[in-house]
Amino acid sequence: MAGLYIHIPFCKQACHYCDFHFSTNLPLMEVMMDSITMELKLRKDYLRGEAVDTVYFGGGTPSLVPAEYLEKILDQVAALFPGKKQEVTLEANPDDLNPQALGNWKSLGIDRLSLGIQSFQDQILIAYNRAHTSKEAKQAIQLARAAGFEKFSIDLIYGYPHSDHQLWKLDLEEALRLDPGHLSAYSLTIEPKTTFGNWTKKGKFSPAEDEFVAQQFEWLQEQCDKAGYVQYEISNFSRPNQVAIHNSNYWKRSPYLGIGPSAHSFDGSSRGFNPSSNANYTKALSAGALPFVLEQLTPTESINEEILTGLRTQWGLDTGSLAERYHLDILEIKKGPISKLTELGMIHTLGKTLTLTRKGQLLADSIASDIFIDSHDLS
Ligand code: SF4
Repeated sequence: MAGLYIHIPFCKQACHYCDFHFSTNLPLMEVMMDSITMELKLRKDYLRGEAVDTVYFGGGTPSLVPAEYLEKILDQVAALFPGKKQEVTLEANPDDLNPQALGNWKSLGIDRLSLGIQSFQDQILIAYNRAHTSKEAKQAIQLARAAGFEKFSIDLIYGYPHSDHQLWKLDLEEALRLDPGHLSAYSLTIEPKTTFGNWTKKGKFSPAEDEFVAQQFEWLQEQCDKAGYVQYEISNFSRPNQVAIHNSNYWKRSPYLGIGPSAHSFDGSSRGFNPSSNANYTKALSAGALPFVLEQLTPTESINEEILTGLRTQWGLDTGSLAERYHLDILEIKKGPISKLTELGMIHTLGKTLTLTRKGQLLADSIASDIFIDSHDLS
């Protein structure tokens, strides 16, 4: 089964931490929607006939798109990729939620919302330059429930340096009180091409200390655990029946087709990258050309991607499956680093599966890189 990702590259305003691709030039929406519909048609064979069972509208801010454009895109999806979908998700910002919009989304077959709440504290929302208030964030969940959305996720950000732990505790308390089926929580990262990145360069902003962020992450793990959520990926927590199917398939390295500017695709052996420019994207498609660049993965790159993504999930890294497919015994080749990481309490091994411990989750990327292989390991 494959996934379909559709990137909507528009936002009302730029959040100070965000380095996703978007533009605030909303009048270009119509041209963009035509290009997206065209790209879907031109790339219908990318997945080589594999059935698409999840659709994900991400961005940017998909909740800004008028319902008639969403309908046009979804009609095109149904015509090109027929069959029942297991999950159709729309990322939505709280200020775009109202009974009419929610009713439209529901009738279009959208059955899951990913709500960009980020914080319930007005002072933090202002610092992030979010377009919504704390009150709107809380109302969004009531509105989504009243409209009959059973599946929705709350997105939060922790580790804002100019605050204290108490504000994060309040955010988490509020989120859990609202009892969403799914919660995603990411630590604030300072990216160079953002307002926070720019302020940091000028000495007007300081990223949080690692210890400060680690404490908030530990609090997140403990509270979600107490509330009965399963941490199925480092940043993702869910009720047992509400694991995000589309996103889980990324971590399991299932194929997906990414449509829209800046979207990525994966067909099992290569990755495709669309340009992160609305103008270049729409210009290419209006001339009937596909703008994406292909990058063939080497076996070493594929294995290292599996190590990185596998370790992030509760299912772990199945070294037995790697051994079957690549004739490579990671447990033997990486015996030294694995036993050191085990002694440090960072990973544990059950049969042939490696998983991170809670302590290890704080250092997931560096642990993965300790286990990465080189091309000579395959020879
Ligand atoms: S965080 Fe979301 S709403 Fe804010 S600028 Fe980025 S994509 Fe847009």
